Amino acid sequence: SAHNLVKHFPLGGWGKNRRVVRAVDDVTFEVAPGETLGVVGESGCGKSTTARLLVQLLGADSGEVRFQGHVAGTEMPLKEFRRHVQMVFQDSYASLNPRMSMLDAIAFGPTVHGVSEAEAQRIARDLLDRVGLDPSRFGPRYPHELSGGQRQRVNIARALAFQPEVIVLDEAVSALDKSVEAQVLNLLMDLKRERNLTYVFISHDLNVVRHVSDRVMVMYLGEVAEIGPTAEMYADPRHPYTRALLAAMPSLDPDRRTTEAPLSGDPPNPIDPPSGCRFHTRCAEAFGACSAQRPSNLRVGAGHYASCHLNDPKMREAAA
Ligand code: SF4
Ligand code: MG
Repeated sequence: SAHNLVKHFPLGGWGKNRRVVRAVDDVTFEVAPGETLGVVGESGCGKSTTARLLVQLLGADSGEVRFQGHVAGTEMPLKEFRRHVQMVFQDSYASLNPRMSMLDAIAFGPTVHGVSEAEAQRIARDLLDRVGLDPSRFGPRYPHELSGGQRQRVNIARALAFQPEVIVLDEAVSALDKSVEAQVLNLLMDLKRERNLTYVFISHDLNVVRHVSDRVMVMYLGEVAEIGPTAEMYADPRHPYTRALLAAMPSLDPDRRTTEAPLSGDPPNPIDPPSGCRFHTRCAEAFGACSAQRPSNLRVGAGHYASCHLNDPKMREAAA
């Protein structure tokens, strides 16, 4: 789970002129064992920063990440935490050492955790085989000798070598061709069932997220706009931003195209986010209070929360 995570990136300046990018601002959520939480939002909304905070590649300015109740980095040393929580990124090339063979890349994790070299090589061969790559053919190869889809399979095998419970996937299939993407997605779903894995699945593709997620979290300018069960979020979104994202989503079924105004313009600069509700500068339903008051996270259904004043009956009246 993530509790009140805050990450601001300094841009320089001093005192009053000190400028920061408020990449992630007070983000709290839980992921239940065995579930897939989809995370969506436009680029720059803080999805990737949240991913890096979750796996502790970045330290939060404040707030904490817990695994089974233990705070990562204090109550649970990072080395142990990383055995439980692994990640796979979009850029399969950058995440692999160009001078390490695929077998060695996968075997590296277990050896760090005290597994013998021979045993780690055996684990690596089994995992290559499991992700659909013949170990004797692909094991000795180097990253540049593989396709993007093959490299992503190796990255998945490398994460699995730690025997993690949780894998954070940041746009893990986004760079792949559609047919390869479907194959890797199927592999991920099979592995999840086999190993009872928990996924945090970050993607800009709302169709894919709907397909794989049990719950979905929508982020806007570093904040959680809405979070809830997938079917309910897509059928009855309770935040105007979620509605706009869904309206902008390419639909294969023309009957499902809505008349809702799609999102216009780019998100505002996270260096100086809008006051009140951060979405008010682009929201078709904004009213007086929206620019003045930050909406609280309101319960709108079972496990379903939205940060929009319109879900507060009193505010709704004022808006009317
Ligand atoms: Fe739109 Fe206001 Fe709701 Fe924000 S609080 S999403 S501006 S209606
Ligand atoms: Mg990103």
